[in-house]
Amino acid sequence: MPYNVDPKQQAVRDEAKAFAEKHINPISVEWDQKPEPRPFPHDLYRKFGEAGFLGYNVPTEHGGKGKSNLEYITLIEELCYYDPAFGLLDAVGELASYPIVYFANDDQKKKYLPDLISGKKVCAFVLTEPNAGSDAANVSTVAEDKGDHYLVNGDKIFIMHGDVADVAVLFTKIKDKPKMSALIVETNQPGWKKRTLKNKMGMRAATTGGIIIKDVKVPKENLLGDIGKGFRYAMMTLDGARIGVAAQSVGLAQRALDESIAYSKKRIAFGAPIAKLQAIQWMIADMSTQLEASRLMCYKAAQLQDAGERFSLAAAQAKLYCSEVAGFCVNKAMQIHGGYGYIGEFSIIEKLYRDQRVLEIYEGTSEIQRLVIAANVIGR
Ligand SMILES: Cc1cc2nc3c(=O)[nH]c(=O)nc-3n(C[C@H](O)[C@H](O)[C@H](O)COP(=O)(O)OP(=O)(O)OC[C@H]3O[C@@H](n4cnc5c(N)ncnc54)[C@H](O)[C@@H]3O)c2cc1C
Repeated sequence: MPYNVDPKQQAVRDEAKAFAEKHINPISVEWDQKPEPRPFPHDLYRKFGEAGFLGYNVPTEHGGKGKSNLEYITLIEELCYYDPAFGLLDAVGELASYPIVYFANDDQKKKYLPDLISGKKVCAFVLTEPNAGSDAANVSTVAEDKGDHYLVNGDKIFIMHGDVADVAVLFTKIKDKPKMSALIVETNQPGWKKRTLKNKMGMRAATTGGIIIKDVKVPKENLLGDIGKGFRYAMMTLDGARIGVAAQSVGLAQRALDESIAYSKKRIAFGAPIAKLQAIQWMIADMSTQLEASRLMCYKAAQLQDAGERFSLAAAQAKLYCSEVAGFCVNKAMQIHGGYGYIGEFSIIEKLYRDQRVLEIYEGTSEIQRLVIAANVIGR
C-alpha cells in the first residue's frame, strides 16, 4: 500500500508488515477456524504489548509510544490488511484503555496502565446492554453507594474481550444520580460472571463476551473521573474509535482489492484472463475509486484529531463511508473470485466477507452515524 499523506506512515507500514509476517500470517487461518468455545489469543496479545502496539498513540509519560493518531490508524489499517480480526484485537486494546489514559487520576493511571499497555492484562470497554445498544444512555446497570464502595448489579452484552478481561471500564448509573458514570472494575470477583458469545459471524479470533454483574464491590477510589460524566467519556472514546473502525475498513477493503486484481490476472475464462473483461475491470475500477476516497476521509479525521480540532463529524463520516465501502469491496471481490471466493479453503475472500459485516454495526451503527452527521450539518 503506497499511499501516505505523512512520510512517517511508511515506517508504520513497514513495522506492521514485519510484525504481521512473523506473528499473524502463520496463525491467521487457524485462529479463524478454532472450534467453540473460542479461546482468546493471549500469546499474540502479549506480542502486541511487547511491540508497543497496545499504546501506540498513548503519550510516552503514560508508557505509550507517543505516536500521532494518524500513525496509529495507519497501524490498524495495515494490521487489518493482513487479518482484520487481529487488527481488531489490537484496536480494542487501545479503545478500552483510552478512558483510563484520558479521564483517570494519576494513581489510577499508575496502577492500571503499565499492565494494560504491556499486554499483561486485558481491558474491556463495557457499555452495551441487552436493552441499551444504540440508545446507550439508557443503561440500567446500577451502582449503589455503600460508603467506602459501590455495589454494582447489571447485565452487559456484546463486549469485545469481555469474556477474558482482567480490567473493565464499566459504564453504569449511580443510584439516585440521573446521569451515567464510569468505574474501573477488577473483574476477578465471583459476582462478575463472564462468558464467550457463540456463533460469531466474523472477526472470530477477537472474542466477544456477555457479562452478568451481581453484587460486585468496587472501591470508591475506582470512580473514573467525575460522577455523571460517564456518557461524555464514552462518546469521546467512541469518536476516536470510529476513526479506528474506518481504518479497519480501509485495510480490509485494500486486501479485497489486491486479491481481486491478482486473481483476475491469473484466472482464465474463454481463453483469456478475466482481467481483460470490461465487466471485471469496472468492478475493480469502482473498488479502487471508492477505496481511495474512503482512505482520504479516514486520514482527514485522524489529522483533525491530531490538530486538536473538532473531529466528531469527520469521524462519523469516515466510519459510515469506509465501512460501507468495505462492504462494497468484499461483495465485488467475491463476485470476481466466483466459487473460489465463496468457498473459504480457496481464498481469503470468504473470511473478509464475514469479517467486514460488523464494521457497519459496532461503535455505532451506520444509522447512528447518519444521525450524528445530520445533527452536525443541519443542527439539532
Ligand atoms: C462484535 C461486536 C462487538 C462489540 N463490541 C462492543 C464493546 O466492546 N463494548 C460495547 O459496549 N459494545 C460493543 N458492541 C455493541 C455495539 O456497539 C452495538 O451492537 C451497536 O451499538 C448496536 O446496538 P444494538 O445491537 O443493541 O442494536 P439496536 O440499537 O437495537 O439497533 C437495531 C437497529 O435499529 C437501528 N436504530 C436504533 N436506533 C435508531 C435510531 N435512533 N435511528 C435510526 N435507526 C436506529 C440500528 O441502527 C439497527 O439497525 C459490539 C457489538 C458487536 C456485534
